[in-house]
Amino acid sequence: MIHKKVIIAEDTINGIVEESNRHENVETGGLLFGKIIGEYIIILKTIHLSTNAKRTQIYFEMDEDFAINITKQMEKNNLAYLGNWHKHLGYGGPSNGDDKQAELFLIQNSHKRNYLSLIIDFYNNDYNLIATNYYFDEDEFRKKDIQIQRIVNIRELNNIFKRKRLNIRNFIDNLSKNIEVHTGKTFIHSQSNQLKNYKLCYEEIYDLHNSESMSKNKIVYSVFIKFPDLNISMADKISIGVTLDHKFTRIVEEIPFSDIFFNIVELLPKIKNIFNKSQYYIKILLHSDDKQENNDFKNRLKIVNIIFSTLKSLSVFNIHNAKAKNVN
Ligand SMILES: [Zn+2]
Repeated sequence: MIHKKVIIAEDTINGIVEESNRHENVETGGLLFGKIIGEYIIILKTIHLSTNAKRTQIYFEMDEDFAINITKQMEKNNLAYLGNWHKHLGYGGPSNGDDKQAELFLIQNSHKRNYLSLIIDFYNNDYNLIATNYYFDEDEFRKKDIQIQRIVNIRELNNIFKRKRLNIRNFIDNLSKNIEVHTGKTFIHSQSNQLKNYKLCYEEIYDLHNSESMSKNKIVYSVFIKFPDLNISMADKISIGVTLDHKFTRIVEEIPFSDIFFNIVELLPKIKNIFNKSQYYIKILLHSDDKQENNDFKNRLKIVNIIFSTLKSLSVFNIHNAKAKNVN
């Protein structure tokens, strides 16, 4: 196995120090979430708030139900459970108990290849960070001290990984599941035959019964997320946008893939926003029709108001529903 390395941002370390100071003279800890890319274990999020945790001078035990729930939530956001951090009161690296706990975790969760333990060891008025990677090599349980690379903030990740290419099939599958959970909308996956483009797309059809002069009385409005390739470079951009009647396209935003992959930019609120603003985008797209068919355009303008009222009554995205789903 290649030697792993941990990347952690100063903000995250500050959070760990703060939480440690909140529980004076006892051990405390939390969960670590993030990504593993090649030899890098990247900590992107820590969770400390564990009200039912047991804290003593030599012992810290987390509320297991809480941990399982949080992990499920994080996985929905494409963040993997990496391991735990916990505080030591000046006795150095992992104890036998810590090692045993890591071993047990890897045995019980055989789909996990690594378990990261981050210890913040306080002595005098200072602290030391100790990272240990646990894993099974063949059938042998292994433990390795690993290097910690401190970065100022997670934006630095864009520089570290800009040349890295990734297969993003799993990422896209997770993303579409996540969108479905939060919006109730199922995005269809499609890959272009000629190009390498991969697209997630959601269509809504609006019936325009009241428009006598229209040659057709249905309008197809779709929201898409387009990836340039399934094998993507971190510097590649993905585009989100809307299409009307499969003809008129507007790209709403292009975002570097790394920003999304490292959760620097959240895609979900952007998608929700496109649904919320669909009236606005339909109007723009109808205008773009202007040059081609002037007469048809006039007719279409007439029906803009009709579309608006249809959209309103359909309530393209119901925030209250999504929130309720989220809680469950
Ligand atoms: Zn310990």
